[in-house]
Amino acid sequence: MTARKRNMFLTKSWETTSDSIRRLPPFVRVGGAILFLALIGSGLFRLRSFRDGIPVDAVSGPRIRVLLAKQEGPSLFLDASGGLLLVPIDGSEGQPISIAADRVEFRAEGKHVSVETFSATAPAFRVSAMEPEETVSIGGRSYRGKLVVYREPTAGLQVVNELAVEHYLRGVIGSEMPARFPLAALEAQAVVSRTYALRSIERNRSRNEPRAWDVTDDSSSQMYRGTGSESLRTDDAVLKSQGQVLCRNGKMVDGFYHSSCGGTTSEETAVFSAVIDPDLDPDFYRAECASCQESTDRMWSVEIPTERMREAIRSLGIDEEVRELISGTVDRGGRWIDIQVRTDAQLYTIPANRFRLALGSSVLKSTLIESVIAEPEGVWIKGRGFGHGVGLCQLGARAMGDAGMSCQEILLHYYAGAEAVRAGDRS
Ligand SMILES: [Zn+2]
Repeated sequence: MTARKRNMFLTKSWETTSDSIRRLPPFVRVGGAILFLALIGSGLFRLRSFRDGIPVDAVSGPRIRVLLAKQEGPSLFLDASGGLLLVPIDGSEGQPISIAADRVEFRAEGKHVSVETFSATAPAFRVSAMEPEETVSIGGRSYRGKLVVYREPTAGLQVVNELAVEHYLRGVIGSEMPARFPLAALEAQAVVSRTYALRSIERNRSRNEPRAWDVTDDSSSQMYRGTGSESLRTDDAVLKSQGQVLCRNGKMVDGFYHSSCGGTTSEETAVFSAVIDPDLDPDFYRAECASCQESTDRMWSVEIPTERMREAIRSLGIDEEVRELISGTVDRGGRWIDIQVRTDAQLYTIPANRFRLALGSSVLKSTLIESVIAEPEGVWIKGRGFGHGVGLCQLGARAMGDAGMSCQEILLHYYAGAEAVRAGDRS
Protein backbone atom coordinates (compact mmCIF):
# COMPACT_ATOMS: atom_id res chain seq x y z
CA MET A 1 0.00 0.00 0.00
CA THR A 2 1.33 3.39 -0.85
CA ALA A 3 2.24 5.92 1.82
CA ARG A 4 0.45 8.51 -0.24
CA LYS A 5 -2.63 9.75 1.52
CA ARG A 6 -5.79 9.23 -0.42
CA ASN A 7 -9.09 10.72 0.54
CA MET A 8 -11.88 9.77 -1.76
CA PHE A 9 -15.48 10.83 -1.37
CA LEU A 10 -18.30 9.78 -3.54
CA THR A 11 -19.34 12.51 -5.86
CA LYS A 12 -21.89 10.72 -7.95
CA SER A 13 -25.38 12.02 -7.39
CA TRP A 14 -28.62 10.15 -7.01
CA GLU A 15 -29.36 10.83 -10.68
CA THR A 16 -26.06 9.37 -11.83
CA THR A 17 -26.99 5.78 -12.42
CA SER A 18 -24.76 2.87 -13.17
CA ASP A 19 -24.52 1.19 -16.52
CA SER A 20 -26.29 -1.81 -15.12
CA ILE A 21 -29.23 0.31 -14.09
CA ARG A 22 -29.41 1.98 -17.46
CA ARG A 23 -29.55 -1.43 -19.07
CA LEU A 24 -32.66 -2.27 -17.17
CA PRO A 25 -35.91 -2.16 -19.11
CA PRO A 26 -38.60 0.47 -18.66
CA PHE A 27 -40.60 0.47 -15.54
CA VAL A 28 -43.26 -2.17 -15.57
CA ARG A 29 -45.83 -2.24 -12.82
CA VAL A 30 -48.52 -4.80 -12.35
CA GLY A 31 -51.43 -2.68 -13.43
CA GLY A 32 -50.94 -0.39 -10.47
CA ALA A 33 -52.89 -2.84 -8.47
CA ILE A 34 -50.79 -4.15 -5.70
CA LEU A 35 -52.32 -7.47 -4.98
CA PHE A 36 -51.54 -8.68 -1.55
CA LEU A 37 -53.54 -11.77 -0.87
CA ALA A 38 -53.60 -12.01 2.86
CA LEU A 39 -54.05 -15.72 2.82
CA ILE A 40 -53.32 -16.32 6.42
CA GLY A 41 -53.43 -19.89 7.60
CA SER A 42 -56.57 -21.72 8.47
CA GLY A 43 -58.34 -21.24 11.79
CA LEU A 44 -56.76 -24.43 13.02
CA PHE A 45 -53.29 -23.01 12.69
CA ARG A 46 -54.25 -19.53 13.84
CA LEU A 47 -55.67 -20.78 17.08
CA ARG A 48 -53.13 -23.42 17.88
CA SER A 49 -49.41 -23.26 18.19
CA PHE A 50 -46.72 -25.79 17.39
CA ARG A 51 -46.44 -26.29 21.12
CA ASP A 52 -50.09 -27.29 21.37
CA GLY A 53 -48.97 -30.64 20.13
CA ILE A 54 -49.30 -30.56 16.36
CA PRO A 55 -47.16 -33.55 15.38
CA VAL A 56 -44.09 -32.77 13.33
CA ASP A 57 -45.36 -34.71 10.32
CA ALA A 58 -48.76 -32.96 10.39
CA VAL A 59 -47.17 -29.91 8.83
CA SER A 60 -47.50 -30.57 5.15
CA GLY A 61 -45.78 -28.84 2.31
CA PRO A 62 -42.35 -29.03 0.79
CA ARG A 63 -39.32 -30.35 2.58
CA ILE A 64 -35.88 -28.85 2.60
CA ARG A 65 -32.39 -30.31 3.01
CA VAL A 66 -30.00 -28.26 5.12
CA LEU A 67 -26.26 -28.96 5.09
CA LEU A 68 -25.10 -28.64 8.69
CA ALA A 69 -21.72 -27.19 9.57
CA LYS A 70 -18.77 -29.31 8.55
CA GLN A 71 -18.04 -32.09 11.00
CA GLU A 72 -14.46 -32.26 12.18
CA GLY A 73 -12.68 -35.54 12.73
CA PRO A 74 -13.22 -39.09 11.48
CA SER A 75 -16.35 -39.74 13.54
CA LEU A 76 -19.45 -38.06 14.94
CA PHE A 77 -22.15 -38.81 17.47
CA LEU A 78 -25.93 -38.47 17.14
CA ASP A 79 -28.16 -38.43 20.21
CA ALA A 80 -31.87 -38.91 20.84
CA SER A 81 -33.46 -39.77 24.11
CA GLY A 82 -35.58 -42.86 23.61
CA GLY A 83 -33.30 -44.33 20.93
CA LEU A 84 -32.57 -43.88 17.23
CA LEU A 85 -33.90 -45.38 14.05
CA LEU A 86 -31.38 -45.81 11.22
CA VAL A 87 -32.17 -46.56 7.57
CA PRO A 88 -29.18 -47.45 5.37
CA ILE A 89 -29.24 -45.58 2.06
CA ASP A 90 -27.50 -47.91 -0.34
CA GLY A 91 -29.82 -48.20 -3.31
CA SER A 92 -31.34 -51.44 -2.06
CA GLU A 93 -33.60 -50.00 0.62
CA GLY A 94 -31.91 -51.74 3.50
CA GLN A 95 -33.83 -52.77 6.56
CA PRO A 96 -34.28 -50.10 9.24
CA ILE A 97 -32.09 -50.59 12.26
CA SER A 98 -33.53 -49.73 15.66
CA ILE A 99 -30.99 -48.79 18.27
CA ALA A 100 -32.20 -48.45 21.81
CA ALA A 101 -29.14 -46.47 22.90
CA ASP A 102 -29.45 -42.72 23.26
CA ARG A 103 -26.13 -42.16 21.46
CA VAL A 104 -24.65 -43.68 18.30
CA GLU A 105 -21.21 -43.14 16.78
CA PHE A 106 -20.73 -42.96 13.00
CA ARG A 107 -17.30 -43.31 11.42
CA ALA A 108 -15.90 -42.66 7.96
CA GLU A 109 -14.71 -45.97 6.53
CA GLY A 110 -13.31 -45.86 3.01
CA LYS A 111 -16.11 -44.56 0.82
CA HIS A 112 -18.74 -45.57 3.35
CA VAL A 113 -20.16 -44.74 6.75
CA SER A 114 -20.03 -47.33 9.47
CA VAL A 115 -22.08 -47.48 12.63
CA GLU A 116 -19.78 -48.26 15.51
CA THR A 117 -20.75 -51.16 17.74
CA PHE A 118 -23.31 -52.35 15.20
CA SER A 119 -21.23 -53.61 12.26
CA ALA A 120 -23.44 -51.82 9.75
CA THR A 121 -21.93 -50.06 6.74
CA ALA A 122 -23.57 -48.05 3.95
CA PRO A 123 -22.83 -45.00 1.76
CA ALA A 124 -25.23 -43.04 4.00
CA PHE A 125 -27.72 -43.44 6.83
CA ARG A 126 -30.99 -41.60 7.40
CA VAL A 127 -31.47 -41.18 11.14
CA SER A 128 -34.54 -40.20 13.13
CA ALA A 129 -35.61 -40.40 16.75
CA MET A 130 -37.47 -43.52 17.75
CA GLU A 131 -40.07 -41.38 19.53
CA PRO A 132 -41.99 -39.19 17.02
CA GLU A 133 -41.88 -36.08 19.20
CA GLU A 134 -38.17 -36.34 19.97
CA THR A 135 -35.44 -34.52 18.10
CA VAL A 136 -32.02 -35.77 17.05
CA SER A 137 -28.96 -33.92 18.38
CA ILE A 138 -25.47 -33.43 17.08
CA GLY A 139 -22.78 -31.34 18.71
CA GLY A 140 -25.19 -29.99 21.33
CA ARG A 141 -27.80 -28.79 18.82
CA SER A 142 -31.06 -30.58 18.24
CA TYR A 143 -32.99 -30.81 15.01
CA ARG A 144 -36.49 -31.69 13.90
CA GLY A 145 -37.06 -34.15 11.07
CA LYS A 146 -34.29 -36.51 9.99
CA LEU A 147 -30.53 -36.33 9.76
CA VAL A 148 -28.69 -37.96 6.87
CA VAL A 149 -25.06 -38.89 7.57
CA TYR A 150 -23.03 -39.47 4.43
CA ARG A 151 -19.46 -39.81 3.32
CA GLU A 152 -18.25 -36.84 1.33
CA PRO A 153 -15.12 -37.78 -0.65
CA THR A 154 -13.11 -34.73 0.38
CA ALA A 155 -14.78 -33.58 3.59
CA GLY A 156 -15.11 -36.71 5.72
CA LEU A 157 -18.57 -37.13 7.20
CA GLN A 158 -21.31 -34.62 6.48
CA VAL A 159 -24.78 -34.29 7.88
CA VAL A 160 -27.92 -33.00 6.16
CA ASN A 161 -31.10 -32.17 8.07
CA GLU A 162 -34.25 -33.08 6.12
CA LEU A 163 -37.45 -31.49 7.40
CA ALA A 164 -40.61 -29.59 6.45
CA VAL A 165 -39.90 -26.03 5.33
CA GLU A 166 -42.31 -24.72 7.99
CA HIS A 167 -40.29 -26.40 10.74
CA TYR A 168 -37.02 -25.26 9.19
CA LEU A 169 -38.33 -21.68 9.40
CA ARG A 170 -38.92 -22.05 13.13
CA GLY A 171 -35.15 -22.52 13.49
CA VAL A 172 -34.34 -19.73 11.03
CA ILE A 173 -36.42 -16.79 12.23
CA GLY A 174 -34.98 -16.75 15.75
CA SER A 175 -31.46 -17.14 14.33
CA GLU A 176 -31.88 -14.27 11.88
CA MET A 177 -33.96 -11.77 13.88
CA PRO A 178 -34.24 -11.19 17.65
CA ALA A 179 -37.49 -12.65 18.99
CA ARG A 180 -38.16 -9.39 20.84
CA PHE A 181 -38.73 -7.56 17.52
CA PRO A 182 -42.37 -6.61 16.82
CA LEU A 183 -44.52 -9.43 15.53
CA ALA A 184 -45.15 -7.67 12.20
CA ALA A 185 -41.38 -7.62 11.54
CA LEU A 186 -41.02 -11.28 12.56
CA GLU A 187 -43.89 -12.19 10.23
CA ALA A 188 -42.31 -10.25 7.36
CA GLN A 189 -39.04 -12.07 8.07
CA ALA A 190 -40.90 -15.40 7.95
CA VAL A 191 -42.41 -14.63 4.53
CA VAL A 192 -39.07 -13.51 3.12
CA SER A 193 -37.15 -16.45 4.63
CA ARG A 194 -39.73 -18.90 3.30
CA THR A 195 -39.43 -17.35 -0.15
CA TYR A 196 -35.65 -17.62 0.03
CA ALA A 197 -35.88 -21.27 1.09
CA LEU A 198 -38.31 -22.31 -1.63
CA ARG A 199 -36.32 -20.46 -4.30
CA SER A 200 -33.21 -22.28 -3.11
CA ILE A 201 -34.99 -25.62 -3.47
CA GLU A 202 -36.18 -24.68 -6.97
CA ARG A 203 -32.70 -23.60 -7.98
CA ASN A 204 -30.98 -26.69 -6.67
CA ARG A 205 -33.44 -29.09 -8.24
CA SER A 206 -33.14 -27.39 -11.62
CA ARG A 207 -29.37 -27.93 -11.66
CA ASN A 208 -28.02 -30.53 -14.06
CA GLU A 209 -26.65 -32.37 -11.08
CA PRO A 210 -28.62 -31.33 -7.98
CA ARG A 211 -26.66 -31.26 -4.75
CA ALA A 212 -27.56 -33.45 -1.80
CA TRP A 213 -28.65 -30.30 0.03
CA ASP A 214 -30.61 -27.13 -0.80
CA VAL A 215 -29.19 -24.63 1.71
CA THR A 216 -26.41 -24.40 4.27
CA ASP A 217 -27.00 -23.53 7.92
CA ASP A 218 -24.86 -20.37 7.90
CA SER A 219 -25.01 -16.86 6.53
CA SER A 220 -24.16 -17.99 3.00
CA SER A 221 -27.81 -19.18 2.96
CA GLN A 222 -29.77 -18.40 6.13
CA MET A 223 -28.65 -18.89 9.73
CA TYR A 224 -30.32 -22.02 11.12
CA ARG A 225 -29.59 -23.38 14.57
CA GLY A 226 -32.28 -26.03 14.95
CA THR A 227 -34.69 -26.05 17.85
CA GLY A 228 -32.38 -23.98 20.09
CA SER A 229 -33.50 -20.74 18.48
CA GLU A 230 -37.24 -21.48 18.48
CA SER A 231 -39.53 -19.38 20.67
CA LEU A 232 -43.25 -18.75 21.05
CA ARG A 233 -43.03 -15.41 19.25
CA THR A 234 -41.05 -16.65 16.26
CA ASP A 235 -43.25 -19.77 16.03
CA ASP A 236 -46.26 -17.46 15.99
CA ALA A 237 -44.78 -15.49 13.09
CA VAL A 238 -44.22 -18.69 11.10
CA LEU A 239 -47.76 -19.91 11.79
CA LYS A 240 -49.47 -16.62 10.97
CA SER A 241 -47.69 -16.44 7.63
CA GLN A 242 -47.87 -20.15 6.98
CA GLY A 243 -47.18 -21.04 3.34
CA GLN A 244 -46.93 -17.42 2.16
CA VAL A 245 -44.22 -16.45 -0.29
CA LEU A 246 -43.44 -13.25 -2.16
CA CYS A 247 -44.16 -13.36 -5.85
CA ARG A 248 -44.17 -10.99 -8.73
CA ASN A 249 -46.29 -11.85 -11.75
CA GLY A 250 -46.82 -15.28 -10.26
CA LYS A 251 -43.09 -16.02 -10.00
CA MET A 252 -41.29 -16.25 -6.70
CA VAL A 253 -38.71 -13.55 -6.10
CA ASP A 254 -35.38 -14.27 -4.46
CA GLY A 255 -36.29 -13.28 -0.91
CA PHE A 256 -33.18 -11.30 -0.02
CA TYR A 257 -32.82 -9.46 3.29
CA HIS A 258 -30.10 -7.80 5.32
CA SER A 259 -29.46 -6.22 8.71
CA SER A 260 -29.63 -2.49 7.91
CA CYS A 261 -29.50 -0.68 4.61
CA GLY A 262 -28.02 2.62 5.76
CA GLY A 263 -30.77 4.72 4.22
CA THR A 264 -31.55 3.14 0.87
CA THR A 265 -31.82 -0.42 -0.39
CA SER A 266 -30.30 -1.62 -3.63
CA GLU A 267 -31.30 -3.58 -6.71
CA GLU A 268 -30.59 -7.28 -6.80
CA THR A 269 -28.72 -6.98 -10.09
CA ALA A 270 -26.47 -4.25 -8.72
CA VAL A 271 -25.18 -6.45 -5.92
CA PHE A 272 -25.42 -10.00 -7.17
CA SER A 273 -24.40 -11.34 -10.54
CA ALA A 274 -28.01 -12.19 -11.27
CA VAL A 275 -29.37 -12.46 -14.77
CA ILE A 276 -31.32 -9.30 -15.50
CA ASP A 277 -34.99 -10.16 -15.70
CA PRO A 278 -36.44 -8.15 -18.60
CA ASP A 279 -39.78 -7.97 -16.78
CA LEU A 280 -38.31 -6.77 -13.51
CA ASP A 281 -39.28 -3.34 -12.40
CA PRO A 282 -36.04 -1.51 -11.46
CA ASP A 283 -37.78 -0.17 -8.38
CA PHE A 284 -38.85 -3.60 -7.19
CA TYR A 285 -35.87 -4.02 -4.89
CA ARG A 286 -35.18 -0.37 -4.17
CA ALA A 287 -36.63 1.58 -1.28
CA GLU A 288 -35.85 4.67 0.70
CA CYS A 289 -35.47 3.64 4.32
CA ALA A 290 -35.39 6.27 7.01
CA SER A 291 -36.43 3.62 9.50
CA CYS A 292 -33.01 2.10 10.20
CA GLN A 293 -31.24 5.36 10.91
CA GLU A 294 -31.17 4.68 14.63
CA SER A 295 -29.03 1.63 14.01
CA THR A 296 -25.55 1.47 15.51
CA ASP A 297 -24.39 0.64 11.99
CA ARG A 298 -25.82 3.86 10.60
CA MET A 299 -22.22 5.08 10.26
CA TRP A 300 -19.18 2.87 10.69
CA SER A 301 -15.48 2.97 10.00
CA VAL A 302 -12.96 0.17 9.86
CA GLU A 303 -9.21 -0.05 9.54
CA ILE A 304 -8.00 -2.89 7.39
CA PRO A 305 -4.31 -3.68 7.97
CA THR A 306 -2.17 -3.64 4.84
CA GLU A 307 -1.37 -7.35 5.04
CA ARG A 308 -5.06 -8.27 5.39
CA MET A 309 -5.92 -6.13 2.38
CA ARG A 310 -3.12 -7.78 0.42
CA GLU A 311 -4.49 -11.23 1.27
CA ALA A 312 -8.02 -10.28 0.25
CA ILE A 313 -6.89 -8.82 -3.06
CA ARG A 314 -4.74 -11.88 -3.71
CA SER A 315 -7.75 -14.14 -3.11
CA LEU A 316 -9.43 -12.22 -5.94
CA GLY A 317 -6.58 -13.17 -8.28
CA ILE A 318 -4.55 -9.96 -8.09
CA ASP A 319 -1.05 -10.74 -6.86
CA GLU A 320 0.38 -7.26 -7.17
CA GLU A 321 1.02 -4.39 -4.79
CA VAL A 322 -2.14 -2.31 -4.40
CA ARG A 323 -1.69 1.44 -4.78
CA GLU A 324 -5.21 2.74 -4.70
CA LEU A 325 -8.82 1.71 -4.16
CA ILE A 326 -11.50 3.82 -5.82
CA SER A 327 -15.13 3.41 -6.69
CA GLY A 328 -16.26 2.28 -10.11
CA THR A 329 -19.95 2.49 -10.81
CA VAL A 330 -22.35 3.18 -7.96
CA ASP A 331 -26.09 2.70 -7.82
CA ARG A 332 -28.60 5.46 -7.31
CA GLY A 333 -28.34 5.20 -3.54
CA GLY A 334 -24.57 5.50 -3.60
CA ARG A 335 -23.81 1.82 -3.03
CA TRP A 336 -20.67 0.70 -4.80
CA ILE A 337 -21.40 -1.76 -7.57
CA ASP A 338 -17.78 -2.33 -8.40
CA ILE A 339 -14.45 -1.23 -7.06
CA GLN A 340 -11.32 -0.30 -8.96
CA VAL A 341 -8.02 -1.63 -7.68
CA ARG A 342 -5.01 0.23 -9.04
CA THR A 343 -1.66 -1.54 -8.93
CA ASP A 344 1.68 -0.51 -10.46
CA ALA A 345 0.77 -2.57 -13.50
CA GLN A 346 -2.85 -1.80 -14.23
CA LEU A 347 -6.36 -0.95 -13.05
CA TYR A 348 -8.65 -3.86 -12.13
CA THR A 349 -12.42 -3.62 -11.80
CA ILE A 350 -14.05 -6.16 -9.50
CA PRO A 351 -17.61 -6.45 -8.16
CA ALA A 352 -17.82 -4.60 -4.85
CA ASN A 353 -19.78 -7.43 -3.24
CA ARG A 354 -16.98 -9.90 -4.09
CA PHE A 355 -14.49 -7.48 -2.60
CA ARG A 356 -16.60 -7.26 0.57
CA LEU A 357 -16.84 -11.04 0.91
CA ALA A 358 -13.08 -11.38 0.32
CA LEU A 359 -12.42 -9.08 3.27
CA GLY A 360 -15.16 -10.66 5.39
CA SER A 361 -18.78 -9.57 5.45
CA SER A 362 -18.56 -8.43 9.07
CA VAL A 363 -15.25 -6.61 8.46
CA LEU A 364 -16.49 -4.53 5.55
CA LYS A 365 -20.05 -4.17 6.76
CA SER A 366 -21.50 -2.93 3.48
CA THR A 367 -20.59 -1.55 0.09
CA LEU A 368 -22.39 1.73 0.86
CA ILE A 369 -18.94 3.26 1.21
CA GLU A 370 -18.45 6.95 1.87
CA SER A 371 -14.68 7.32 1.99
CA VAL A 372 -11.43 5.40 1.65
CA ILE A 373 -8.19 6.65 3.20
CA ALA A 374 -4.98 4.74 2.57
CA GLU A 375 -2.19 4.97 5.16
CA PRO A 376 1.12 3.07 5.30
CA GLU A 377 -0.22 0.70 7.93
CA GLY A 378 -3.61 0.10 6.36
CA VAL A 379 -6.77 1.45 4.80
CA TRP A 380 -9.56 3.29 6.62
CA ILE A 381 -12.98 2.76 5.12
CA LYS A 382 -16.12 4.62 6.23
CA GLY A 383 -19.60 3.58 5.27
CA ARG A 384 -23.22 3.07 6.26
CA GLY A 385 -25.45 0.09 6.98
CA PHE A 386 -24.74 -3.61 7.50
CA GLY A 387 -25.35 -6.23 4.82
CA HIS A 388 -25.70 -6.39 1.06
CA GLY A 389 -28.60 -3.93 1.06
CA VAL A 390 -31.02 -5.89 -1.15
CA GLY A 391 -34.63 -6.57 -0.12
CA LEU A 392 -35.96 -6.40 3.43
CA CYS A 393 -34.03 -4.13 5.83
CA GLN A 394 -34.45 -5.90 9.18
CA LEU A 395 -33.87 -2.86 11.38
CA GLY A 396 -36.16 -0.85 9.14
CA ALA A 397 -38.80 -3.55 9.54
CA ARG A 398 -38.42 -3.34 13.32
CA ALA A 399 -38.94 0.43 13.28
CA MET A 400 -41.99 0.08 11.01
CA GLY A 401 -43.42 -2.61 13.28
CA ASP A 402 -42.82 -0.43 16.34
CA ALA A 403 -44.72 2.35 14.56
CA GLY A 404 -47.74 0.07 14.23
CA MET A 405 -47.35 -0.96 10.60
CA SER A 406 -48.43 -4.43 9.51
CA CYS A 407 -46.45 -7.24 7.97
CA GLN A 408 -48.05 -6.46 4.60
CA GLU A 409 -47.09 -2.80 4.79
CA ILE A 410 -43.51 -3.71 5.64
CA LEU A 411 -43.22 -6.17 2.77
CA LEU A 412 -44.75 -3.80 0.24
CA HIS A 413 -42.31 -1.10 1.29
CA TYR A 414 -39.27 -3.24 0.55
CA TYR A 415 -40.73 -5.26 -2.35
CA ALA A 416 -42.76 -2.78 -4.34
CA GLY A 417 -45.57 -4.44 -6.24
CA ALA A 418 -45.05 -7.87 -4.71
CA GLU A 419 -47.85 -10.31 -4.14
CA ALA A 420 -47.84 -12.60 -1.14
CA VAL A 421 -49.45 -15.86 -2.07
CA ARG A 422 -49.50 -19.36 -0.77
CA ALA A 423 -46.76 -21.36 -2.47
CA GLY A 424 -49.28 -23.88 -3.79
CA ASP A 425 -51.48 -21.16 -5.28
CA ARG A 426 -48.93 -19.91 -7.78
CA SER A 427 -49.98 -20.29 -11.35
ZN1 LIG B 1 -32.93 0.45 6.22
